[in-house]
Amino acid sequence: MTKVSTYCAFCRLPRSIYRKKGVNWVNVLQALGLACGSSYLIWRELDPRAMIIFVGSLAVMEIFILLRTRSEIECPHCGFDPVLYKRDPAKACEKVKLSIEARKEDPNVWLARRPPLRLPKRKRSSTREIVA
Ligand SMILES: [Zn+2]
Repeated sequence: MTKVSTYCAFCRLPRSIYRKKGVNWVNVLQALGLACGSSYLIWRELDPRAMIIFVGSLAVMEIFILLRTRSEIECPHCGFDPVLYKRDPAKACEKVKLSIEARKEDPNVWLARRPPLRLPKRKRSSTREIVA
């Protein structure tokens, strides 16, 4: 649900990205449970200071969701980063070049069963059509 299948804008290979925009109601309930549980553990009652734990855990969840979303935007095949491309196309181009150069010299890529960068096959028009 939070993973979306898509294609890389640069190399056109299929890949999946994490598309959660922020905390949802499930995360709010988790933070509430964490705050209530830790309040009972620390102060043996429901203390108003548990609100600090609640807000802090929500902030930490939001930060980790944003970091995960941002870290998975970059293409694992060619290293293309669309967010960086929107800000600075020259830097994004340099990053792709460095990624492809690094892959060229990596022996694990060349010993892999699958080729390192598979481009989608082009459709050829068939010349052997059967006409009835
Ligand atoms: Zn790519």
